[in-house]
Amino acid sequence: MEINEKSLELGSKRSVIRELFEFGKKRAEEVGEKNVFDFSLGNPSVEPPKEIAETIISLLSNENSVALHGYTSAPGDIKTRKVISDYINSRFNTSLSENNIYMTCGAAASLTISLRAILNSGEEVIAFAPFFTEYRVFTESAGGNLVVSTPREEDFQIDFEDFEGKISEKTRAVIVNSPNNPSGVVYSEETIKKLAEILNQKEIEYGKTIYLIADEPYRELVYDNISVPFLMNYYKNTIVCYSYSKSLSLPGERIGYIAVSPDCKKSDKVYLAVCGAGRALGYVCAPSLFQKVIAKCYNVKVDVSSYKENRDILLKNLTEFGYKCVKPDGAFYLFIKTPNFDANEFSERAKKYNILVVPCDDFGVKGYVRLAYCVDKERIKNSLPSFKKLIEEYK
Ligand code: PLP
Repeated sequence: MEINEKSLELGSKRSVIRELFEFGKKRAEEVGEKNVFDFSLGNPSVEPPKEIAETIISLLSNENSVALHGYTSAPGDIKTRKVISDYINSRFNTSLSENNIYMTCGAAASLTISLRAILNSGEEVIAFAPFFTEYRVFTESAGGNLVVSTPREEDFQIDFEDFEGKISEKTRAVIVNSPNNPSGVVYSEETIKKLAEILNQKEIEYGKTIYLIADEPYRELVYDNISVPFLMNYYKNTIVCYSYSKSLSLPGERIGYIAVSPDCKKSDKVYLAVCGAGRALGYVCAPSLFQKVIAKCYNVKVDVSSYKENRDILLKNLTEFGYKCVKPDGAFYLFIKTPNFDANEFSERAKKYNILVVPCDDFGVKGYVRLAYCVDKERIKNSLPSFKKLIEEYK
């Protein structure tokens, strides 16, 4: 073979979400766009805050265009990194400096860089199901193996017995994604404290560092004043992978960062390994214009009230119809248990009603589908009669 087999396999794999997207386009031509209830994509539906456009216009009007669009330093513009570290410190009472921050093209890049920075060949990364399916791709391409810990099904918090059983001398990292894609669950402070306690014990038992990777693209998308514990404050060897894709509705602009805890063992070296991994992957100098936008809009957030309204309408009605849903405290996903415990069959049957939901077996939990409610409210309301008819087929 003259090309890399693994890359060929990855590139050739048909994605369920992509197939649903194509199906939705076809149905829209047949029955009209407004009659297709496409809940497959996690693309924000809320407009970016007005400060984003204002800042872009101001930068384009007032800054030197060569500098504005030019290379920044490889880990990112030092002013942007300083603004971010100061902001994290003021918000979470930490002591980061600009030399703990590496600017990236969103959380996907933050994760691939972080994993490449810490993993040696054959080491293991534990993810809690249900998990973002790309974790497997990112871990394997960094030479590691993904180990999946099954959750407590009643509330999708961590099943600690299962988790402890999955840790071994090969474990190098644990990924936590809270608020979670696809369940919408936020890990409680109690869960995080227990997780940190176990990791501290296991580090001593195995005499090695185990990193906690906090994948945080949904940190700001929480409802009802729920608080999301900041993992650096609970566990020293923490690396935060942040993204503005959802918090500012900017997924196509590809901007985020990695924050290495200053309390990490040999934190300076971990940060240098992050810089090295970024270099090896060609992820240097994140988009310059958006680094400068973030330097000014670091504390701005999207209005999450319409996501909350969507969640409330769906949760109330679907539950009344007889669906069993996990209550999401954050992100914009509803995780639905399928009546016949067959996610693929349910997703296929839903298509008959022009409802598109993602079967989640690949997310590590069988028999569930994911509904992304980042769509407009009318669409949600109009979909309800179809959801009712769909579940009646199973009664
Ligand atoms: N992690 C999770 C859990 C996600 O859901 C996503 C995107 O949907 C990402 C990472 C990647 O985010 P980004 O668009 O910032 O690369």
